[in-house]
Amino acid sequence: MSEEDLNNIHKNMLKILEKNEIFIDAIFYCPHDYVIEDCNCRKPKIGLALKAKEIFPDINFVKSVMVGDSKSDMEFAENIGAKKVFISNTHSPKEITVPSLYDFAKLLYESY
Ligand SMILES: [Zn+2]
Repeated sequence: MSEEDLNNIHKNMLKILEKNEIFIDAIFYCPHDYVIEDCNCRKPKIGLALKAKEIFPDINFVKSVMVGDSKSDMEFAENIGAKKVFISNTHSPKEITVPSLYDFAKLLYESY
C-alpha cells in the first residue's frame, strides 16, 4: 500500500483508540521496499527501536516488553535486550505465551 494509505489507517486507528481513552505516543514503520532495499528497519534488525530511542531518550530497552507473534519479533526483543511475549498457541519455556492480545493486556493489568 502507499505511505499515504498507511498514514490514513494509522490516523483512523488512533482516533478509535483515543475515543476509548487509549493513547499511543508514536507509530514506527518501515517505509522501504524490503525486496529492493536492505534497510535496518525490518525486524529482527533494530533500526526502528533506535529511531524510537532518538525521539524518546528515556526508553530503556531492558525494561521494555516486545509483544509479537513471529520469530522475528522474538529475535528483535533479544537484539535489544527486551522481555518478550509471544502470542501463540505453542509454548516455549523461555517465553510467556498468551492465547491473545486481550489475555496479555489482562496479564499486564493484573501484575500491577
Ligand atoms: Zn526500512
